[in-house]
Amino acid sequence: MVTKAMRIEVEQPATASLPKRVSYSQMSLYEQCPLKYFFSYIAGWREPPTSALAGGSITHEICEYLYRLEPQDRTLDAAMNLLREHGPRMLRTTEYKPFENDLKMKYSVKEAIENLFKVEDPTQVVVQPEHIEMELSVEINGVNFFGKVDRFTVDGINRVTDYKTGKSPGKFVDDKLAQPYLYALGFKTQYEIEVDEVELIFLNAQEVVRRPADSGLVLAQGEKLAQMRTASEFDVANSSWEARVSRLCDYCAFREVCPARTPDAPAPGSSQCNTKLAEAGLLHK
Ligand code: SF4
Repeated sequence: MVTKAMRIEVEQPATASLPKRVSYSQMSLYEQCPLKYFFSYIAGWREPPTSALAGGSITHEICEYLYRLEPQDRTLDAAMNLLREHGPRMLRTTEYKPFENDLKMKYSVKEAIENLFKVEDPTQVVVQPEHIEMELSVEINGVNFFGKVDRFTVDGINRVTDYKTGKSPGKFVDDKLAQPYLYALGFKTQYEIEVDEVELIFLNAQEVVRRPADSGLVLAQGEKLAQMRTASEFDVANSSWEARVSRLCDYCAFREVCPARTPDAPAPGSSQCNTKLAEAGLLHK
């Protein structure tokens, strides 16, 4: 819940522009805090990869490889072999190398893969290879939207599925459903395919959430996308972004340079601000 909202003047190049395409992550970040969106997508700062990110990426990749196998071959043994084959390879990349010896993360990935077999029987999932990690790139309400759908299954019900790692969403589950609802709209717009149901599989929490792809909820995401784009166009044109203070600020990498949280912070986008972010270990794109 937002406890305080204030507009913050920023220093941005005269040529500053919004990303050409909008993803669900961008939309969600803007909704949480437009100033955080500015730091990430206009000023170009990002946090170094975390252990959770490394674990989530490995888990997603193993699920992808598993569902590319023939149905009868999608066994737990096969999944563990895939993990042994691809996990170390991914942890040797520059991005994830810092987590090569992170036993807690490795255990969490193994547990997530094992849990997949507790929440569904992969041999029974009807999925075509081209429906795994499907890319969406389509104009929705005048906005260039793009996304990647973990899995689209057609077994009498057209279902969009997204895997999640980490904690149970608890009472925030409806917020998490916004992503597959938007993907359902992407499917309808790009492929003229009606999605009947959206599904989130919380692997570590062993929870599966399915909801009908209610057309009102699906269309509402498209409206939110257009509103976000219009609002961000205004912000970038005026070099002024709203800071939305909430409990999530405690986890925000920009809190030390955010004037809403740290009153004597330098103007966002200034060289002083950039120096502080670099000193704090953030990466510049
Ligand atoms: S600290 Fe809070 S208000 Fe400031 S940028 Fe981060 S999320 Fe936004």
